[in-house]
Amino acid sequence: MQLPLGEFELIQRFFKTGSEAMLSSDDQSIMLGIGDDCALLKPNPGEEIAITSDMLVEGRHFFADANPEWLGRKALAVNLSDLAAMGARPLGFTLSIALPQVNSNWLEAFSKGLFALAQEYSCPLIGGDTTAGPLNICIAAFGSIPHGKAIKRSGAIAGDEIWVSGSVGDARLTLAALRHELSLSSTDLQAIEIHMHQPTPRIDLGMHLRGIATAALDISDGLLGDLKHILKQSKVDAQIFLDHLPKSATLQQQSEAVQNQFAACGGDDYEICFTASPDKRSVISDISKKLRLAITHIGNIKTMQFSEPIIQLLDKNGKELSATETANLLKSFDHFA
Ligand code: ADP
Ligand code: MG
Repeated sequence: MQLPLGEFELIQRFFKTGSEAMLSSDDQSIMLGIGDDCALLKPNPGEEIAITSDMLVEGRHFFADANPEWLGRKALAVNLSDLAAMGARPLGFTLSIALPQVNSNWLEAFSKGLFALAQEYSCPLIGGDTTAGPLNICIAAFGSIPHGKAIKRSGAIAGDEIWVSGSVGDARLTLAALRHELSLSSTDLQAIEIHMHQPTPRIDLGMHLRGIATAALDISDGLLGDLKHILKQSKVDAQIFLDHLPKSATLQQQSEAVQNQFAACGGDDYEICFTASPDKRSVISDISKKLRLAITHIGNIKTMQFSEPIIQLLDKNGKELSATETANLLKSFDHFA
C-alpha cells in the first residue's frame, strides 16, 4: 500500500533530519545511519552488542487517542529499559512503523517525543521501515556491554537480596483511574500518570549494576510475575516482604489490598528488579545516593524447594500469607487485568 506523502519525504522530514542532528556528535560507534540498505554499528574492542525489540500495537498497548508525543517517547523508553536491565549502554535504535494515514501533526509530535528521549540517552535513530497499515510501532535498540558483564536473569543464588528501583504500582493505579475502576482526584492522577505515559528507562542504574547485581530485569508485566523469570532461570525461590514494596504517597492512600495488588502485580512500571549479595549493600546505597534514585531491599533469594520456583509473601508482621490470601492477591489482580 502506498502512503500519500511519499515514503522518502516522510522518512526525511520526520526521522532522518532528527537522526542526522544526533549523528554529528562524536560517537564513533555508528559508522552509517539512515539512507543505505543497512546501518553499520561498530562496538568498541572488548564489548558485546545487546539487542532488544518491542512492539507497541494500538488497542493493545495504547489507546487510539494516545498523546503522540508521549507515545514516541514511550516506544523508545520500553526498549531502553530492556538495555538498562542488562547493564548496556545505548548505541542506537531502528524504528519500523505502520501508519494508517500520513498525519503531519501526529508524526511531528511523535518524532518530537521520540527524539527528546533519544537525545537524553545519546541513542540515535539509525534505520527502520515505513509502511501503510494499522498503527503499529516496532523499535529495536542496540547497546554495548563490556565482554562478559551483561546482567542476565540466570545469575541469582540463594542468600542474595532482592532490590527494586523507584516505586512500583503507579502505572497500574493510573490505568485503574483511567478505566474508572477507582476514583482519583485530578491532582493525584497528575502526580502519578507520568509513570504510565512516560516511564524513565533506568540506564544509569543498569550500567552501575554491572559486576554488582547477580541477576536483573525490568518490570513490564508486574513485579511478582517478572521476578518469576529470574527465579526460573536461576533455579531459586524468593521471599518478598509486601510492606517493603516502595509505593508513591498517592498509592499509599489506597486500601491495603489495592496497594499490595498494584505494587506487587501491576505492570508497566519499567523499574529494575535485581538481586545482589548482601555484601553489596553499601555499594548499592552509594549508587542510590549518586543517582538520586530510591533502591529498596524487598526480599531475599532462597534455595529452590520444588521443581517450580515459589515466591513466599510475608505481611507487615512478617507472617506468611496463606495459600488463600496469596491466591486472592493474585486473583483480584487478574480480575482487573
Ligand atoms: P529498503 O527498501 O532497502 O529496506 P527503505 O526504502 O525501506 O530501504 O528505507 C530507506 C532508508 O530509510 C533505510 O536506510 C531505512 O533504514 C530508513 N528508514 C525507513 N523507514 C524508517 C523509519 N521509520 N525510521 C528510520 N529510518 C527509516
Ligand atoms: Mg525497507
